[in-house]
Amino acid sequence: MQGRARYACRVTTPGRLDLHDLTREELRLQFVRWGFSPVHAARLWAYLYLELAEDFSSMPELPAKVLARLETEARIGVLPTALETDSSDGFTRKYLLALPDAERIETVLMRFTGRVTACISSQVGCAMGCVFCATGQMGYTRHLTPGEIVAQAVHVARALRHLPPPKTFSAEPVPDDSAIASASPKPPDPPTSPAPCASPASHALPKPLVSHISPASSASTVPTTSVAGNASPSGKRHVLHDTSPERRLRNIVLMGMGEPLHNYEAVMHAIDILRDPNGLALAAERITLSTVGVVPGILRLAQERRPLHLAVSLHAATQAERAALVPAARKWPLDELMAACRTYSETTGRRIFYEWTLIEGKNDTPEQARAVGTLLRGLPAQVNLIPLNPTAGYDGVPTHTAAAKAFQRILADEFSLPSTVRQRRGIDIAAGCGQLAVAERH
Ligand code: SAH
Ligand code: SF4
Repeated sequence: MQGRARYACRVTTPGRLDLHDLTREELRLQFVRWGFSPVHAARLWAYLYLELAEDFSSMPELPAKVLARLETEARIGVLPTALETDSSDGFTRKYLLALPDAERIETVLMRFTGRVTACISSQVGCAMGCVFCATGQMGYTRHLTPGEIVAQAVHVARALRHLPPPKTFSAEPVPDDSAIASASPKPPDPPTSPAPCASPASHALPKPLVSHISPASSASTVPTTSVAGNASPSGKRHVLHDTSPERRLRNIVLMGMGEPLHNYEAVMHAIDILRDPNGLALAAERITLSTVGVVPGILRLAQERRPLHLAVSLHAATQAERAALVPAARKWPLDELMAACRTYSETTGRRIFYEWTLIEGKNDTPEQARAVGTLLRGLPAQVNLIPLNPTAGYDGVPTHTAAAKAFQRILADEFSLPSTVRQRRGIDIAAGCGQLAVAERH
């Protein structure tokens, strides 16, 4: 482990209105209710999301009467860092953040191949109980509020202002592994290639540690404009953040602790706040939500045509095998899940990323590769293969590289299915989903 720091956590005041819970319009309406001009609401919004203010003392443009009201009735839901770890390669930084009720969640900053991505949590613990997942092994404690979800992204955006970029950070698309890329059936073109931080792999690897089966799957050119700023209502420019690629948060993956579609309303509300063009301005096509397969949530996403990327954690291609790994499959069986995925892709025109945690002897055989190829036949799909990150509560072991490559080869050659294999990574910072939170309890 490169670096690990513990902090004494400040306690925030949970009873007050968390400003990160509000969209810009909701903040405006709150100011109207308080009898304040909407101009002040716009100023406050700029302080929150362009200057990333942590307290009301750094808001000189707000009148004293507004500040007094905010001090007594509102709070900025800053999530103090309880523990911070840094991977030995400098590409990944993991934060254990403290919530007002003393619960802890994990948020991960990943910087590799020219992308800056925050992996954020949606719940404290998880009710879905996937056998190999450290968060699942913890059980469910509670949903996160929209403000607690937004605050994780703000935390990462703040951190980026001060962190030195990784030495090999590059804004250029990274060439794919040519040996594997030549087997590519067709080039996938995800604007955001999901990199689950719940997996070791997600801690994202500089080449050649991520093996892509097809060209351009991770290549994303990041614009290199220098500094962004939005004019405040008074005409003063609020410096948002340096938009050089290594300093600007551009990608979000909802692949941290919890099941985002089990906390649908709060997650979507948070995404609306994160996407606000006058705020963090995250593009919808750079937000990826990963689900264990909550069928009603997938159908609702389709119906609402939310412009996100969807990743579905499949892990097995038969109901019996899947239910053994993912207990939630008993509630939402595989055939219903696949029907929902088909509806989602037909309604939205979007490809789905199917995640497959590779566990030696459990789901990494050539037969299982053929089974998933058959299952996904005809669907717009990309498979993300993630060698298991071992956890204390599960005795499975990660697949061997050769088995992973063979799996990938079958998908490409026999089913024209694009896929990626992400190598185990980040174990030196307890990178698996929930592993830092578990480690801190002991
Ligand atoms: N609850 C959502 C999102 C969080 S988990 C979901 O399950 O999709 C994100 C991804 O990490 C999932 O694909 C999950 O199966 C995977 N994952 C969880 N624990 C893992 C582990 N120990 N090793 C490898 N992948 C893991
Ligand atoms: Fe929950 Fe996802 Fe972990 Fe399953 S893998 S227990 S759904 S966080």
